[in-house]
Amino acid sequence: PVGVLAVVGRPNVGKSTLVNRILGRRAAVVEDTPGVTRDRVSYDAEWAGTDFKLVDTGGWESDVEGIDSSIAEQAEIAVRLADAVILVVDGLVGVTASDERIVAMLRASGKPVTLAVNKVDNQANEYLTAAFWKLGLGEPYSISAMHGRGVGDLLDQALDQL
Ligand code: GDP
Ligand code: MG
Repeated sequence: PVGVLAVVGRPNVGKSTLVNRILGRRAAVVEDTPGVTRDRVSYDAEWAGTDFKLVDTGGWESDVEGIDSSIAEQAEIAVRLADAVILVVDGLVGVTASDERIVAMLRASGKPVTLAVNKVDNQANEYLTAAFWKLGLGEPYSISAMHGRGVGDLLDQALDQL
């Protein structure tokens, strides 16, 4: 059986953009409006010779108005069914209270987590990444899901946890 890798994080951090980047095609729905991906969506993926299932989720911000609690529930189910997790955060925004709550839930799940700091589109913004060490998940991997920057290193690490 192939391993399952779930992509979680707040709405609008770039989860679906990352999923598309990994799949190499436009399959996951990317929107400027937070919370567009409402359900868990599972894709067959392959990276560097490893087959795995890649699960996109609708975002996890259960206590915020406008984000349906059923979407958060889907993210929790995705984590429960996953062998490993990529937590995506927004490098341009920095650490938020929601990020910290998500980290607490992930810690409780006991699943291995790789931290992806997205929207670090160029070397000049690399300094944004250091702030995320404080989430306590180990090394933050800076990526640009939009441009592909850093995604290979991120996946090497995340797939190593499967
Ligand atoms: P999701 O809600 O977490 O799935 O986020 P989406 O993938 O739908 O992306 C939300 C917004 O962030 C869209 O406007 C994307 O174009 C934008 N975005 C995603 N990845 C990047 C990135 O690497 N750099 C920048 N600058 N914007 C990004
Ligand atoms: Mg999405």
